[in-house]
Amino acid sequence: MGRAFNFSAGPAVMPEAVLQQAAAEMLDWHGSGMSVMEMSHRGKEFISIYEQAEADLRELLAVPTKFKILFMQGGGLAENAIVPLNLSQGGAMDFVLTGSWSQKSLKEAGKYGTARVVATAQADGFTTLPSPANWQIGPDSRYVHICSNETIHGVEFHELPDLKALGCDAPLVVDFSSHVASRPVDWSRVGLAFGGAQKNLGPAGLTLVIVREDLIGHALQHCPSAFDYKLVADNQSMYNTPPTYSIYIAGLVFQWLKKNGGIAAMEQRNIAKAQLLYDFFDSSSLFENRVAKDCRSRMNVPFFLRDESRNDAFLAGAKAANLLQLKGHKSVGGMRASIYNAMPLEGVQALVAYMREFEKTQA
Ligand SMILES: *Cc1c(COP(=O)(O)O)cnc(C)c1O
Repeated sequence: MGRAFNFSAGPAVMPEAVLQQAAAEMLDWHGSGMSVMEMSHRGKEFISIYEQAEADLRELLAVPTKFKILFMQGGGLAENAIVPLNLSQGGAMDFVLTGSWSQKSLKEAGKYGTARVVATAQADGFTTLPSPANWQIGPDSRYVHICSNETIHGVEFHELPDLKALGCDAPLVVDFSSHVASRPVDWSRVGLAFGGAQKNLGPAGLTLVIVREDLIGHALQHCPSAFDYKLVADNQSMYNTPPTYSIYIAGLVFQWLKKNGGIAAMEQRNIAKAQLLYDFFDSSSLFENRVAKDCRSRMNVPFFLRDESRNDAFLAGAKAANLLQLKGHKSVGGMRASIYNAMPLEGVQALVAYMREFEKTQA
């Protein structure tokens, strides 16, 4: 069996060209006589890898100079604690509940201060998004948190909310773990964005934080030093040893993105891939996606067989057709196809072809 089409939600498919380059450079990086994972993070070789990765990411995502890019560890879940430790200043934090990940963020923040729910789509089973006009944001809010792509429920904000237009001066905190780099970001609406690398940027172990400078330097006294954005920023993400190999691989992914037309080109490809899948579900009598059309995720597509007893047969047939990791998250059931940047159009076409065949044999 060669390389399969891998629909994992994360850690997820990587661009094949990146894996090949990493393999070729594994034993001796650019004539240094070392593998990247053997280098001092303070040596000139790794510093050059780090600086290139940061510059490429800043260019790709068009990050304004008044934002710092931090390479941290601990994943999205650690940021659920690190953000309140740095931004809450002991005040209240407001959360928009749109699925499992924003629920987790709310719960964790509650350990560090008052965490309030300003809107929720729970009554719809998290298949819709609450309209920003109806969010009940408090005047004392330290920040408003959203998960801009809910990886498990498959809902995505196609536009970030404009808090200023809602009369709110609090910064917007965005968990963009599962769709970072899939589309451009409107930084004028963002205070801080964070995400683990393992969905759309590279290997697990690296957490990306992009934060507006004025939000740095207000950590609670008991914030662990390694998680204090000011210490991390002042030390170019090297207050402690950064996840060097993951940064290197993410850097190769950034170069791959640049070679392939950048984020705007990626977005067009992602729209085309997602459209192919949703069009199939909307025309199928056997399969369905239950998310409201205007908030369907371009990255994570949960779907169901109307006859759930066929799930195992579907997954076994998919595996035999080299289509892997399609089982849905246990909290939602059914199936899920994650179609991140590195999933080629051919992978989505192969999945749709398999589903058409499956549908015929069930008729
Ligand atoms: C995967 C994911 C997380 C958690 O990431 P970890 O690296 O496992 O901590 C948080 N938020 C979203 C939206 C995710 O998809």
